[in-house]
Amino acid sequence: MADDRRMFCPAIGIDLGTTYSCVAVLQHDRVETIVNDQGNRTTPSCVAFTDMQHFIGDAAKNQIAMNPTNSVFDSKRLIGRRFSDPLVQSDIKSWPFKVIEGSDDKPMISVTYKNEIKMFSAVEISSMVLQKMRVIAETYLETTVKNAVVTVPAYFNEAQRKATMDAGRIAGLNVMRVLNEPTAAAIAYGLDRAVLGSICKRNVLVFDLGGGTADVSVLTIEGKKFEVKAVAGDTHLGGEDFDNRMVNHCVEVFKRKHKKDISGNAKAMRRLRTECERAKRVLSSALDTNISVDALYEGIDFISNITRSKFSELNMDFFKKSVKLVEKCLVDAKMEKRNVHDVVLTGGSSRIPKVQQLLQEFFDGVELKRSLNSDESVAYGAAVQAAIMAGTRNERVQDIVLVDVIPLSLGVETNDGTMSVVIPRNTTSPTHMERNYTTVEDNQTSIFFCVYEGERTRAADNYLLGKFTLSGIPAAPRGKITVVVSFNIDINGILKVSARESTTGVSQKITITNDKARLPIEEINRMIKDAENFKVEDEKYKDKAKAKGALEDYAYDLKSIVKDKEIRAKLEPESKKKIEDAIRQVTQWLEGVQSASANEYKEKLKVTKKVCDPIIVKIKQHKQSSSSSRR
Ligand code: AMP
Repeated sequence: MADDRRMFCPAIGIDLGTTYSCVAVLQHDRVETIVNDQGNRTTPSCVAFTDMQHFIGDAAKNQIAMNPTNSVFDSKRLIGRRFSDPLVQSDIKSWPFKVIEGSDDKPMISVTYKNEIKMFSAVEISSMVLQKMRVIAETYLETTVKNAVVTVPAYFNEAQRKATMDAGRIAGLNVMRVLNEPTAAAIAYGLDRAVLGSICKRNVLVFDLGGGTADVSVLTIEGKKFEVKAVAGDTHLGGEDFDNRMVNHCVEVFKRKHKKDISGNAKAMRRLRTECERAKRVLSSALDTNISVDALYEGIDFISNITRSKFSELNMDFFKKSVKLVEKCLVDAKMEKRNVHDVVLTGGSSRIPKVQQLLQEFFDGVELKRSLNSDESVAYGAAVQAAIMAGTRNERVQDIVLVDVIPLSLGVETNDGTMSVVIPRNTTSPTHMERNYTTVEDNQTSIFFCVYEGERTRAADNYLLGKFTLSGIPAAPRGKITVVVSFNIDINGILKVSARESTTGVSQKITITNDKARLPIEEINRMIKDAENFKVEDEKYKDKAKAKGALEDYAYDLKSIVKDKEIRAKLEPESKKKIEDAIRQVTQWLEGVQSASANEYKEKLKVTKKVCDPIIVKIKQHKQSSSSSRR
C-alpha cells in the first residue's frame, strides 16, 4: 500500500505580517496553526545577517539588539514601493538598517553579510520569511509544500500584490492566490462562530489593525457566501507607528534628563524600541508601566513611567485615523452603521483599549467581537481558502464562495491630465470593464496611454502602473476614431489592460509590461538561485554546528569522567594524563579557532576519540564487572 503522506499534497495559508507571520493548514477536518522550531505559533518577520550566517524568525529577532544595522524587519512596509515614496523616506529615518536607492527608484536594503556589503530588495527579504514559513509547515507535515495562499492587506495596490507574489515564487511557493487579510479573518470568524451556513444574512465589519497596516472591510455572510461590499485602509498605519511615537517621547525624556541625544545611536534606539513595544502591550491591560533600559547610552540607565493616557495622547491622531477608515468603508458599502450585526477585531494593535473605546463609541456602544485567536485568524482563513483551491474534500468549507472587491480605482490619464476611471474602487473582482476613448487630433495615428491606480482627480497624483502606445490607428478627423480600452482584473486583483481600435475593425491588444515596481524575470530567477544558495549555506552551517557540538559534548563527557571521584581513583595515571591532555588540547583548539569547517571539527573528534575511547571502554567494562560482582 502506498504511503498516505506522500500522496497528500497539502496547501497552506500564510499570513505574511509586518511584524509577525503565521502559517496554518486545514487537515483532519480542522485548521491547525503550525508552531515553529521554537514552539511559537507566530514567527517574527525578521531576517538578520552576520559575518557567519543569516537568521530568519525568532533567531533573527533575538539578536537584533546586538546587531541592529544588519537585522532587517518591516519589509512589508517597503514591498512594491518606490524609494522616492515619502512614506519610505519617513520610515528610513526610524530604521536602524540602511536603505539606499537602487535602479529604477527601487529601495534596496544594504547589510554587511559575511564581511561584505550585500543588497537585498524588500521582495527578497519577504521571500526569506515566506521560505521560513514553508519550512515550518514542511517540518510539521513531513512533506514538501508548494501550494499556498498568502494574505495581503486589502488596501495593497497592484504593485504590492505582484511583489508579494514574486516573493512567494522566490521562496519556491506556488502562490495560488493572494487573499485580502480582513476577508481571511472574516472566514475564520464565520467558521468559528458557526455564522456560516445560517440562513440569515449577517453584515460583518472587520477591523484589522496590525503592526504596519490598517484595514477595514464590510462583508455580508449569507449561507456559505462571503461577499465583500467595500474595503478601506491605510498601508502605513499600525503598531510600529505607535512604537515610533513612544520611542520619540523617550528620546525627548532622555534629552531633558541627561542633555544627551541618543537618536543617532542605532543600538540604543533598537533597545529602546524593544522596550517601548513591550510597554505598549502592557498598557493594553495595565494603566501604567515603566520603560527601563540598563546602560542605554554612555552607561546611563533609562527609566521612565508611562501611563495609558499618555500613550493614548501620543497616538490619538493615529487612533482617530483608524476609526475614520470605518466611516469611509461604511459609506462605500452604502451601509448604515446600525445595520452592522458584528464588528470583528483582528490584528495585534486592535487590542489597544483606546482604539476599542473609539470604535465602540462610533458604533453607539455595540459589543465588539474578537476573532477567536486574533493573531492566527488571518492564517486560519488563508488555510481554508488554500484547502478549497487545492480541492480538499471537507464538508464545512467545500462550498464556500468568496466575492472580493478591488481596493482602488483603476483608469487612464486623459489629454487634460485627469484620471478617467475605468474600474471604480470596490467593484467586485474578478471583473472586466471597458471604456471608449476618441482621438484628440486630426489624423492622429497613435495614442499614448498611462494607466493609474488611485482616487485623486489629477492622474499624476495617483500611482502609475504602466504605459503603452496603441499605434497603427487609421488617419481620420479628430473624434472620429474610437478606441476601446479594456481592463481585466483576475482573482488576485492583478490587472491586464488592452486597447482596440474598433471603427475600422482593426484591433490590437496590448498588455502592460512596464511596471517599474516589479522585478524583471531575470532578477527573479537570480533571486531564486540566491535563495537556493542560501539553503546550501544553511545546510553547511548546520553541519558545522552539529560537528562542533559533537566535539564539545565529547570534551564535556571526558571532563565528567575525570571529575568523578570513583573513576579517578581507579584510573591508571597514564590513562588519566591522556584524558587530561586530550581535554586541554580540545579546549585550547576550540578557543583558538574562530571558525573551523565541519570536516575539521569531525577530524579533531576522530583523533581525540582514538586516544580516549579505549580508556572509556575499559572504565565501562570495569564498572560493569564490579557492579555484577557486588550483586
Ligand atoms: P499583527 O501584525 O496583527 O501581528 O500585529 C502586530 C502588532 O500588534 C505589533 O505592532 C504589536 O506590537 C501589536 N500588539 C500585539 N499585542 C498587543 C497588545 N496587547 N497591545 C497593543 N499592541 C499589541
